[in-house]
Amino acid sequence: MNVNNNMLYSKQLKHWKIILQNWNSRKLDFGRFFTPLHDRHFHLSRVNCRFCHTEDSNRRRDFSDKLDKGPSLQHFIANSSESFDNYVHEGIEEKVPYLEDEVYSGNGRKVFFDTYGCQMNFNDTEIAWSILKDKGYAQAESVNEADVVLLMTCSIRENAEQKIWNVVKQYKGLKRRASKKKQIKIGILGCMAERLKHKILDKEKMVDLVCGPDAYRDLPRLLSVTSESGQASVNVLLSLEETYADVMPVRINSNSKTAFVSITRGCNNMCSYCIVPFTRGRERSRPVSSIVDEVRKLSDQGIKEVTLLGQNVNSYCDRSEEVHYGGLPKSEAQEGDKPENRVLSRGFKTIYKVHSGGQRFSHLLDQVSMVDPDMRIRFISPHPKDFPDELLYLIKERPNICNKIHLPAQTGSTAMLQAMRRGHTREAYLDLVHNIREIIPDVALTSDFIVGFCGETEKDHKDTLSLIDIVKYHFVYQFSYSMRQKTHAYHHLKDSVPEMIKLRRLQEVNDCARQGMLGVNQSLIGQEQLILIEGVSKRSSSDIWGRNDGGTKVIIPSGPLPSSDGEPSLRDVSVGDYIAVKILSANSQTLFGEPLFHSSLVDYASKPAKVSRTASLS
Ligand code: SAM
Ligand code: SF4
Repeated sequence: MNVNNNMLYSKQLKHWKIILQNWNSRKLDFGRFFTPLHDRHFHLSRVNCRFCHTEDSNRRRDFSDKLDKGPSLQHFIANSSESFDNYVHEGIEEKVPYLEDEVYSGNGRKVFFDTYGCQMNFNDTEIAWSILKDKGYAQAESVNEADVVLLMTCSIRENAEQKIWNVVKQYKGLKRRASKKKQIKIGILGCMAERLKHKILDKEKMVDLVCGPDAYRDLPRLLSVTSESGQASVNVLLSLEETYADVMPVRINSNSKTAFVSITRGCNNMCSYCIVPFTRGRERSRPVSSIVDEVRKLSDQGIKEVTLLGQNVNSYCDRSEEVHYGGLPKSEAQEGDKPENRVLSRGFKTIYKVHSGGQRFSHLLDQVSMVDPDMRIRFISPHPKDFPDELLYLIKERPNICNKIHLPAQTGSTAMLQAMRRGHTREAYLDLVHNIREIIPDVALTSDFIVGFCGETEKDHKDTLSLIDIVKYHFVYQFSYSMRQKTHAYHHLKDSVPEMIKLRRLQEVNDCARQGMLGVNQSLIGQEQLILIEGVSKRSSSDIWGRNDGGTKVIIPSGPLPSSDGEPSLRDVSVGDYIAVKILSANSQTLFGEPLFHSSLVDYASKPAKVSRTASLS
């Protein structure tokens, strides 16, 4: 094959790919497709063409001739990553033989990311950006200079989706106005893409690309398909393996000294109200080694705080190095080794199959915390069932693992917990809180609550208020129940609580939680805390803010401070510095303090405090 033929075939392949792509998403107008070989369209079959006014048989013959010499359609189908049988694309072939790299190249086109939802979405944006940057895309500082606008979306509640539809409308206006000057592409990424798939294209004709949470590697191809063909491109295939373990996320905010690292994807828990298992697929864990490598790289870049992420982060289980004995993992093959006894929270049962064998979350946390003793480690979002004692002791023992645990309760009523399929009772949850506080007395606890779940009575609601009152959280996230299609509750339960009642209960949960949070924060007044500086306060440019170990925001006046405890020389304070602070006042969400001196995590942990540093709520 000579060079010219090679180029010809690769261009032909590109067009067959576009056809397959769009055939797959049923978006192709089969009356035509364009080819840059002729810079005009030709007919696949005898159709009434809306675009063609004259028959150019010579050109067609010429094209057919060239086509005959190239690979056949069957060849492309056999090698294509798409399937004709399925609406969505089946699998991804990152590099197609015959295709030049430049086909997927961004050629400096500017991408603007707009991210909604949880921290995992922010990390997914960094993964998607890493993949696109690698293919020659550039970052747009604002939406106005963007050639491509990608929305990382959330489906967890109806109002989250509504917010995103409103934003899409704004971008549509931008696209319409810009159409004469440049071609702007709009893409929907993440959970909404996965939940609604092609329905997004039916609802919003201006959307050019739909890409689910496991298909980000395919973004360069999806973008080039939609740019070349003018048709929408879709990949919403969920994967059992994809963890993006080898993709080093590129941080959107490169000035920040904190970073997220995804360690698991998906969720197997199937809580009856939750869409996550349907939008993010089955649970899978990244290998320990890839996570530790990423954390080491972040430490080398000067990152001072890493948050390990997963929908169910503490059910982490890396089986990539599992040794098998007679068909069973080593751990299962050992007599008397009941996984429930080793991996669940004390006294917890689960209605789900427990992972056995593999490297568990406590092992990972142990490894990650040893990478850099001066780097804080947090993790979110855990499930209450996965807190074995060994994990709690590790958190207590390591100064750089923050003594903060997010412990989503969802409700304080055992009946509701059962309806939600959470797999534990109110009593088991309270026992866990007691157990955690016994092992880590100064722990900061936070939680999620849903009000107005199917069948929730006033008594159930009062149980929630009393649980919040008993536990005394450092922060509470509260949500009004939103029925989601596909979930167990959608199929089997009734969304019976009227909106007005949901709103009233939400307010009551909020009032109760705030009262507890105020008490917790006020108990810290007079104490010394170590905070990691994150930026300048929004309220006053003469103040800066950081977070303490428990994750609460602390505001202090800016200005140079002693470079260590008792040291007369002063040093300016920058983002990423650890500062010892004396807490002077508090409201329910924020602490205000007097800055004392610079420190490091290691120094601070090794020196005895002059004043109390902790608040025990037990
Ligand atoms: N995996 C975590 C757990 O099980 O606790 C929670 C992750 S979920 C993405 C975040 C929170 O959204 C949940 O804890 C729950 O409070 C809330 N949530 C999930 N589905 C919801 C729904 N249908 N309506 C209202 N809130 C919901
Ligand atoms: Fe949703 Fe439950 Fe999984 Fe959390 S554990 S992501 S609430 S299904």
